[in-house]
Amino acid sequence: MTTRRPAQTWNGPHTSLAREAVLLAPYAMHSADTAGRKHFESPHSYRGPFARDRDRIVHSAAYRRLSYKTQVFTGEMGDYHRTRLTHTLEVASMARTLGRALALNEDLIEAMALAHDIGHPPFGHAGEDTLNECLADDGGFNHNRQALRIVEQLETRYHEFPGLNLSSEVLEGQLARATKSSGGGEGTLLETQVVDAADSVAYNTHDADDALELGLLDLNELLALPLWKEASRRVCQRYADLTSNELRRAVLHELIDWQVGDLIAVAQRRLAGDAIESVDEARRAGVVIRPGDEVAEQKAELERFLYARVYRHDQVLAMRTDAQRSLWEMFAGYVDRPDLLPAKFRQRAETDGLARSVGDYLAGMTDRFAQREYQRRFTGDCEG
Ligand code: MG
Repeated sequence: MTTRRPAQTWNGPHTSLAREAVLLAPYAMHSADTAGRKHFESPHSYRGPFARDRDRIVHSAAYRRLSYKTQVFTGEMGDYHRTRLTHTLEVASMARTLGRALALNEDLIEAMALAHDIGHPPFGHAGEDTLNECLADDGGFNHNRQALRIVEQLETRYHEFPGLNLSSEVLEGQLARATKSSGGGEGTLLETQVVDAADSVAYNTHDADDALELGLLDLNELLALPLWKEASRRVCQRYADLTSNELRRAVLHELIDWQVGDLIAVAQRRLAGDAIESVDEARRAGVVIRPGDEVAEQKAELERFLYARVYRHDQVLAMRTDAQRSLWEMFAGYVDRPDLLPAKFRQRAETDGLARSVGDYLAGMTDRFAQREYQRRFTGDCEG
């Protein structure tokens, strides 16, 4: 009979620091080394700073609203496919797996993963593109920057400060995401890289799955792509005589398991090979969490296919047109009639400008709230 050691009791304000000292790698972001928060707060008696950040995100209004925001396909198209919230949870799940395997800070990873898409407006990228056009003269709109605006200013849960007063490292990860196109991403924490890698695996896999379920794609089209072909070969080595549905499910599992395993193996080789032993060394190492060359090439081919066949599908484009029209009309309508805005956004207009404040209000809406408001206020279809 094996005898287990009595569970260690982690009491007191240094709970998370002690756990991390035992469990995390030297290249992980330890809570003890956090640069802190903009507004000083005393340490919590039993939660570490990043666990506290994660809890603040989960309790925010912007996070809850993700359940009624489009990932790629709108609510009218069915109930099977991912919403922005379930996408976020899949990213958090994979990112935690990666983080645990690499002995990184899972609390920080989870906080960043749960917040990574919190700035998305209604109607997915169609909504984002429209708000970017509406705000073209006022700095434009980008969901990654909006996420920062939400957690730094727009959430109003606490008396002592605006926003959620998150730890510097969570904000830094989101800022890297927001500035990626202008050379950001270099010098990022491994925890930030893990979230980005998990995001990519998640949407590549689930967008294909959702498109299959909706009948926008045929399984054989995907199985002709190298990534799916290889995953299917691996599955068929283990199981014989799978039905088409069984094959699809097994390939989806294999795709995730294989890609996550590949990310871990590549990172472990790099970390060991370059003897990366501190956060500073990890920051100087460039992108460590990345797929191997073969997987990267095959993923790129899948992404090109999804772009052409799914994101540009007639049904998706039709939703785009509707969403763009209603958001444009609402933007113009609220700018014309700021008295229709909730008091909070009328007040913000005084400091941030009316256009930005209308953009914030529209970006915070769920798909269904935006549709209802559009009907109620701007079409004359129903009185309200
Ligand atoms: Mg995402």
